[in-house]
Amino acid sequence: MKSLAILGSTGSVGKSTLDVIRKNKDEFKIELLTARTNFRLMAEQCKEFTPKFVYLENKEAQKSFLDELGTNNPQVTLLSDEKELNQIIASEDLEIVVAAMVGIVGLKPVFQAIKHGKHILLANKESYVVAGEILNNLSKKTGATIFPIDSEHSAIHQCLMGVKNKESISRLILTGSGGPFLNRDINDFKNITPKEATTHPIWNMGDKISVDSSTMMNKCLEIIEAKWLFGFDDIDVLIHPEGIIHSLVEFKDKSLIAQLSIPDMKIPIAYGLGFPERINSGGDSLDFEKISNLSFVKPDSKKFPSLVLAKDCINSGGTSFSTLNAANEECVASFLEGRIGYLDIHKIISEVLDKSDIKMVEEIGDIFEADMQSREMTKELININ
Ligand code: MG
Repeated sequence: MKSLAILGSTGSVGKSTLDVIRKNKDEFKIELLTARTNFRLMAEQCKEFTPKFVYLENKEAQKSFLDELGTNNPQVTLLSDEKELNQIIASEDLEIVVAAMVGIVGLKPVFQAIKHGKHILLANKESYVVAGEILNNLSKKTGATIFPIDSEHSAIHQCLMGVKNKESISRLILTGSGGPFLNRDINDFKNITPKEATTHPIWNMGDKISVDSSTMMNKCLEIIEAKWLFGFDDIDVLIHPEGIIHSLVEFKDKSLIAQLSIPDMKIPIAYGLGFPERINSGGDSLDFEKISNLSFVKPDSKKFPSLVLAKDCINSGGTSFSTLNAANEECVASFLEGRIGYLDIHKIISEVLDKSDIKMVEEIGDIFEADMQSREMTKELININ
């Protein structure tokens, strides 16, 4: 049995991971589940999956969790702080860490897991976007493996199976659904509400990633994520609204390999959990007769200027990735709270990137420093907006 931790088990990817585990109960045992505040769902998950350890970041939620779990239920140890959490992540009993939390908060536990040579299933793209180079270097030293479960990167991983020489690859093509505003008039973008931006046409996801998907910041982050994961800079984006082809690799001879399935996160998660074997994902078969059309559109960088920021940041390197990510996290949170308009998201991020001093990254502290400075500047700009 493989032992695993799910960091962020009550979120969308965490829940899908548990769906896959449910189908493969004899192969996995759950060591640790973590969440921020959702104590009710955590208590339910504990009753079903009996993890040894649980961590809830919010202190109030920790208390409520114990009440909710009751006394007649399986013995789980509730960890009280980050220090204890780090000990469990480092422990020898743990093999796989599923990093399914949202945002830069994922960086510390992901760093800890890599430091201790774990097999990491990465859905927390933000940590890899900001610290890809450092995390790659660290994993070379410790023997940790980083395995993508973002659907596009999982697709590319599958397309690259058996490719021995990077020279054979001509480019990576990340597909994207285009989000909910693909066909909306650009003049109407200023009126977009949080509710509209969090309603994704294809994928059922959390609020932050849904807004990122609507602005195409998600694709921007995914370009950077792909650069670090596959060590390749030639990355194109193709809008494919049906969400059936999850990404492609083009080779030197102009042959293409694509990975297809219905859009269901359980499928890339099962690929990561089972690798190199294939396990039951619980997802449905793709019914070709029901697909009337597979369409492709070039991304419109006027409507979705975030996309361009990926190449800008790749050119600048250093702390530009953490500056970009922090500004985006702050802007998305403020947009969801109704404090800034939809178009302000990109406007403010661009301004923060323009005004920030981009520095070299030598250690993980440089990333946290840049993150903090970017957040401060972003908050100032949000307040005067
Ligand atoms: Mg994705």
